[in-house]
Amino acid sequence: MLLAEDIFLVARLLIAVLCVFALVAAVRRWGSASAGLPQHRPLLMMLIVVLVIGIGLVIYDGWDNAVSRREQPLLLGSWLWLSFDAAVPLLAILSLRALQERDEAMRRLAEAAVTDPLTGLANRRGFREAALRALEECRRRDRPAAVLMFDIDRFKSVNDGHGHAAGDAVLQGMGAALHRAVRASDLVGRLGGEEFVVLCPDLDPAGAARVAERVRETLRAEVPHPAGGEAVITASVGVARVRAGILATALEAAIDAADRALYAAKEGGRDRVALAAD
Ligand code: GH3
Ligand code: MG
Ligand code: MG
Repeated sequence: MLLAEDIFLVARLLIAVLCVFALVAAVRRWGSASAGLPQHRPLLMMLIVVLVIGIGLVIYDGWDNAVSRREQPLLLGSWLWLSFDAAVPLLAILSLRALQERDEAMRRLAEAAVTDPLTGLANRRGFREAALRALEECRRRDRPAAVLMFDIDRFKSVNDGHGHAAGDAVLQGMGAALHRAVRASDLVGRLGGEEFVVLCPDLDPAGAARVAERVRETLRAEVPHPAGGEAVITASVGVARVRAGILATALEAAIDAADRALYAAKEGGRDRVALAAD
């Protein structure tokens, strides 16, 4: 009988430890407002209340048994209540885990929505969101900003001559080289197809044209051509400054202007930089 009572006591102690563990996890989750979505709050509140009651009951029972030395016969019902008590922290831990997994899945989905899967760069939506934030900061500090549009020259011939997979590899090489070539504060995105965009905060048009020229040369030197040997991948670049006005409109206008300059660079013979008319 003594053995059964000992097991009963140890089990209660373990339940108390589990309750404290789950309570700490629930309170931490409540505290991390960024991770805990507002719609999780009622569930977290319920978990915290139930766990606090659970810990209170264990302390009360422990006091009752150990200090008041009240003898209670261990009946089947006692074990059933014990199982029920154990289910409380276990359910809490499983719920917290499910919440965490859901939050992580949501975060991954949100990230996928703004990322180009082939190059890992921001996609059009991701670039736009990040660019608007960066431009807001530029406006606040009264600094200029410029947009650079890159388009790989005669890319169709890479696909046609070496296959789509080789074309994809060129796009990946282009994305990686572009990312390496610009400053950490510049934003790089793939707008679609073989068109890439860079937002350069703090650069006036003349500075942006110098950066574009340097990056164009870097791409020419670093992006591998599937044919190997002397063959090179080149890109044409259009540069435009971001003008004053409503941010979203100014960004779209700068992208359009850079795109027109890019067209002029293509017309001018490709593998070159063209600056948008002011
Ligand atoms: P230009 O010098 O005038 O820019 O000529 P271009 O051949 O690069 O231009 P064009 O716009 O005619 O061709 C772009 C090609 O890019 C056509 C399309 O099949 C290819 N492309 C678009 N997206 C992808 C992609 O995700 N992977 C691959 N491999 N090719 C793509
Ligand atoms: Mg194109
Ligand atoms: Mg092209």
